[in-house]
Amino acid sequence: MTEAERRVALEAIATEVRSCTRCRLHQTRTRAVPGEGHPSTEVVFVGEGPGQNEDRQGRPFVGRAGDLLVKMLETIGWRRDEVFITNVVKCRPPDNRDPEPDEVAACAPYLHRQLEVIDPALVVTLGRHSLGRFMPGARISQVHGTNRPIDPATGARAALGYALYHPAAALRSTEVERQSFEDVLHIPEALLAARARRESEAALPGAEGELSPADRAPEDPLQLAETAEPTLDRPIDEPADITVRTSAQPPMDAAAPALDQMTAF
Ligand code: URA
Ligand code: SF4
Repeated sequence: MTEAERRVALEAIATEVRSCTRCRLHQTRTRAVPGEGHPSTEVVFVGEGPGQNEDRQGRPFVGRAGDLLVKMLETIGWRRDEVFITNVVKCRPPDNRDPEPDEVAACAPYLHRQLEVIDPALVVTLGRHSLGRFMPGARISQVHGTNRPIDPATGARAALGYALYHPAAALRSTEVERQSFEDVLHIPEALLAARARRESEAALPGAEGELSPADRAPEDPLQLAETAEPTLDRPIDEPADITVRTSAQPPMDAAAPALDQMTAF
C-alpha cells in the first residue's frame, strides 16, 4: 500500500468512527477519537480510551496523560507525529470508568483495521486494557518493558508488542513514573528487534502471500509467553539513537522523514 492509499484508508475508518453507534458509549461522547499519526509509521501506541480532554477535542492523548506520553517520547528523540496513537475504545467511557467487555468487542474492528492498514513493526500498549488485547493473560506488573510477538489476528500482521504502564498510572505514582521512563528508553531496542523479525520473515521462501510460521496464530496462547524474548534488561543511561521510520522504504539510515507528512485522522 502506498502512503496515499494508507492515508485514505485511515481517513475512511476515522469517518466511520466519528458517526459510529455500535455501542452505548456513543450516547455519552462529545466527539469520537479515532486516533492520529503518521500513516506510514512503524510504531502504533494503543491506549485505553479517550478521557475528558480527548472527548472534547476528538484527538487522542491531549490531556495530562498525553503531555506525559509526549515527554517520555522526547527522551528517545521521538515525536507524536512520527508514530500513530489510538485507543482500544474510540469513545469516552463516562466518568473515565473502565470500558466494558462488550464495548471493547464492539470497537475492536476499528483498531483491527487501523493496524491492518498501518502494518506496524511495533505495537506499544499503554496500560492493562490495551495489554489485554495484544498479550492476553499477561500481567502488566510482570511484562512492562518487555516485548513479544503479537497474534496477527489483532490486525498487526507481523509485529512485536511492547508493554508500558498507562501514563495516567504514572501520574498517580512516582514509582510507576520512574519505571515508565525507564521502559520507554528500551522502545528503540524493541523496534530494532521487531525490524529484524520482519526482515527474517521476508527472507523466508514463500513469504509473499503465504503465512510464515511466525505469522500464524499460536494454537496455545501460552506458547506466546514461552517464546517471548524480553528486551535487554541491562539499564541503559542513554537511549539508543534509533529513529522511527515513517516510510516503507529502507535503507535504515534514510534521511529524516518529512515533517509535513503527518496527518490527523
Ligand atoms: N488515556 C487514554 O487511554 N487514551 C487517551 O487518548 C487519553 C488518555
Ligand atoms: Fe463505536 Fe467504538 Fe464509539 Fe462504541 S466506542 S460507539 S464501537 S466507535
